[in-house]
Amino acid sequence: MADNALYEILGVPTKATDAELKKAYRKLAKEFHPDKNPEAGEKFKEISFAYEVLSDPKKREVYDRHGLKGLQEGVHEHGGFGADDILSHFFGGGLFGGMGGGRRKTRQRGEDTVHPLKVTLEDLYNGKTSKLQLSKNVICALCSGQGGKPGANVTCATCQGRGIKISLRPLGPGMMQQIQSVCSTCNGEGEMINERDRCKACKGKKVQNETKILEVHVDKGMKDGQKILFRGEGDQQPGVEAGDVVIILQQKPHEKFKRQGDDLCVMHTITLTEALCGFCYVLKHLDGRDLVIRQAPGNVVEPGSTKMVPGEGMPRYRSPFEKGELFIKFDVEFPSSHFADESTIMAIEKLLPGRPSVIPPSGEHVEEVDLHDYDANERRDGGGGPSNAYDSDDEEGGPSGPGVQCAHQ
Ligand SMILES: [Zn+2]
Ligand SMILES: [Zn+2]
Repeated sequence: MADNALYEILGVPTKATDAELKKAYRKLAKEFHPDKNPEAGEKFKEISFAYEVLSDPKKREVYDRHGLKGLQEGVHEHGGFGADDILSHFFGGGLFGGMGGGRRKTRQRGEDTVHPLKVTLEDLYNGKTSKLQLSKNVICALCSGQGGKPGANVTCATCQGRGIKISLRPLGPGMMQQIQSVCSTCNGEGEMINERDRCKACKGKKVQNETKILEVHVDKGMKDGQKILFRGEGDQQPGVEAGDVVIILQQKPHEKFKRQGDDLCVMHTITLTEALCGFCYVLKHLDGRDLVIRQAPGNVVEPGSTKMVPGEGMPRYRSPFEKGELFIKFDVEFPSSHFADESTIMAIEKLLPGRPSVIPPSGEHVEEVDLHDYDANERRDGGGGPSNAYDSDDEEGGPSGPGVQCAHQ
């Protein structure tokens, strides 16, 4: 496969003379030199590499005929180009990542270590620094991750160095299924270290366990489920780029406040007197402040209504001086039956807005009926009875529970 990417890097035609190449290279090298242009380190490497290849008649010939792939094979046949890392940069998903044909030499990355971190809503409101103790594998310092003396590695006899074990399992008459599993003798590595040559510190495991304390900064306004990343703090393993430690915040439910985005919601029960005549109550906020919440007499609060306190919600993540809203949903507790004698009730009625006047009709199709107290749950547990016909399997009771359908007229 031929290509002309290296010519394009230098901005010269494929028939360029040595003098033209040199001129183009000097100009670009000046422009992209890391001393002048620290951001352009990769670009400088590419330019240098392109010139290195094209200014060498042998390499240029290989490149013209077989492209980058040809060069790369040359590297491995002769081992002489000294440009392996640059090539791997080209083939490893960088500039020519998609060009195909190349051996992809991306460094393997280890798995991320995920830890949940339980936090309270107070923590998310006020911010907090948590110390998290982690145990992780680090490359053994004594053997530098070799596991033993240099050259002490021997091919695993169980798997002949393949790292996998192949076994056959009968599937049915005359049929076998081939099963691949990781070789347990060498843990899939394909090689082992003789017992007497093993590193004394890590016993040949190449890594050692270490306890590490991470300081996790829970910032104001962070959310349940939010991830905090510690790059490269995961388990170390020779030849593998360490993964990240990922902390996932888990907010414990709060007994009072519910969070909705940047807003907070809270339920508050007031008496009928407060609903009609105003109220004052104290709400302890998540930062310990006491919010005095007042409703002047004359402002009626209906059961189930919601009011808002602006700017008393959660701090916004990364701009904690801005806050969401605080919503208060009111429940109204009514007095129980016969809370006052009849004459007092009459006196209260005089104070309340008038009632609709109803004149019952007369005649044979008119019937006065009894009104009883009704408890949906009690009726259900009783078993039998007409309401059972409406019973469903769900356990949700409640006022609009089984069997009752009040048509609005
Ligand atoms: Zn093995
Ligand atoms: Zn060791």
